[in-house]
Amino acid sequence: MGVVALTLLLVSAVVINRLDDYFLQQQATDLEARAETVAEVVATIANNESGFAGPVVDEQNLTDRRVLAVLERPQQRHVLANQLAQASVTIRFGQILNRQFVPSPNGVVAAPLTTMPARGQAPESVTTKPLLWRVNESFYPYAIEVTLSGPYTFRAAAVANVTGILAAIGLFALGLTIIVAAVLARRYTTPLRNLTEASRALAEGDLATRVPDAVIRAGSVEVAEVATQFNRMAERLEESVAIIRRDRDRSRDFLADVSHELRTPIAALRMFNELLREHGEQDPAARAEFLESTAQQLDRLDWLAQNLLELSKLDSGLVLLDLRPDDIRAAVESAVEQARPAAERRDVALTLSLPDTPVRIRHDPQRIGQVVANLVGNAIKFTQPGGQVAVEVGAVADGARIEVQDTGVGIDEAELPRIFERFYRGSRVSEARGSGSGLGLAIVRSIVDMHGGSVTVASRPGAGSRFVVVLPRDPRASGALRVPGGREATDGQSPAGRRDAESPVNVADSSSTEVSRLNPGTSP
Ligand code: ADP
Repeated sequence: MGVVALTLLLVSAVVINRLDDYFLQQQATDLEARAETVAEVVATIANNESGFAGPVVDEQNLTDRRVLAVLERPQQRHVLANQLAQASVTIRFGQILNRQFVPSPNGVVAAPLTTMPARGQAPESVTTKPLLWRVNESFYPYAIEVTLSGPYTFRAAAVANVTGILAAIGLFALGLTIIVAAVLARRYTTPLRNLTEASRALAEGDLATRVPDAVIRAGSVEVAEVATQFNRMAERLEESVAIIRRDRDRSRDFLADVSHELRTPIAALRMFNELLREHGEQDPAARAEFLESTAQQLDRLDWLAQNLLELSKLDSGLVLLDLRPDDIRAAVESAVEQARPAAERRDVALTLSLPDTPVRIRHDPQRIGQVVANLVGNAIKFTQPGGQVAVEVGAVADGARIEVQDTGVGIDEAELPRIFERFYRGSRVSEARGSGSGLGLAIVRSIVDMHGGSVTVASRPGAGSRFVVVLPRDPRASGALRVPGGREATDGQSPAGRRDAESPVNVADSSSTEVSRLNPGTSP
């Protein structure tokens, strides 16, 4: 706006100045022409009066009185001043002597301007340069000097007119500039103001704040881009904070669970310790029983500590998977064999069904062994004597499938989604359930997740349960390697691999080259 105003001002000043110069020049030419006309008319009158016989200006340089009398008539002066010159006219008669005008002592006629100026005219306070008019036609040459003063001209009115038009145009242009500048400023500043407000709200902790879509659309392309990016950033920030909050809550719960789990065996140990001190001396049988119970609680503590350590390592992504393109049958078989004594102790029939051909997938045998051991351990634990636990391995289209089925107590449908949570134990009170820690299935899910696989469960209370683990042929190829962060309740019928924070996991591969040795796995 300032630039436009300054430009208009400068242009107006220059134009008016130049115009004034131009008019002055025009006026000078015009006045000269008027003076010439006056001189010519005066010469004609003078010559007529003197009748071309006598001199208008005689040898004594005196002007003919008859000529002066005619010129001084009011009618004549009116014609000269008001009509021809449109200025006050001063006429002097005289002679040219030695190229010099010598005025006649009596030959001065003054005709003042008496009429009002015409429309658009104004009086100029100037006096023109005297015009010298030689008259040589008569026998007695003489000269007339005509001077015009205070003429009426159109210059002032024309300049005033142009100045007015320029001022009007200038004001219009300035007004237009203000409107356009205001519109442009609004277009730029409104989205920016919204952006600033949104940023402030975000800084003050309102993570749900966004720049409205309408504002984004109304702004310029650049501002719209910034606002869109801002919204995207705010969205991600909100998501991240939600994840961190959820993690924090889970960690708090986890810590509470851990302390709770530790307190039970510690309380038992303290009780046995006191009983031993009080009665151990007198009663060797009670002493032996207390020692046995103490050893059991210590085992449980040790087991708990080991599992907790394992789970936290798995969850933090510190675990290095030792992926090998091996036959998965070996890992499953060894885990089942290790569980056989427990099954026999509980009088549960444990069967293993393996395919005839190797099922080669890239996996960490020790960890998959642990998965099977946990699942089979649970199956045996939750199956009454006389029941059956069947483990089956098969090759599927792009990987392997391990199924652990029992004829045990089963799991309530309502509990299914929760059994993979840490420290979750079934609500049904039974001796077998009391002995667990609720970490086994959480570990299973973490390990399966790290392999990019899935674990599902189907169960009917009273009839038994079936856990199915499906592992991809190559966790790396499927891009499925994940840090197991599984703390969310997992639907029992759906894959356990549901994660909120995912990132690649550390993998050690003992034979990374031979992909061809992997199980082609086409039979379901
Ligand atoms: P726990 O150490 O208690 O066995 P898990 O995480 O292995 O912990 O299992 C969690 C819960 O899931 C168990 O307490 C039990 O209620 C239920 N569960 C797991 N496997 C079975 C199964 N085969 N049959 C019945 N219930 C099971």
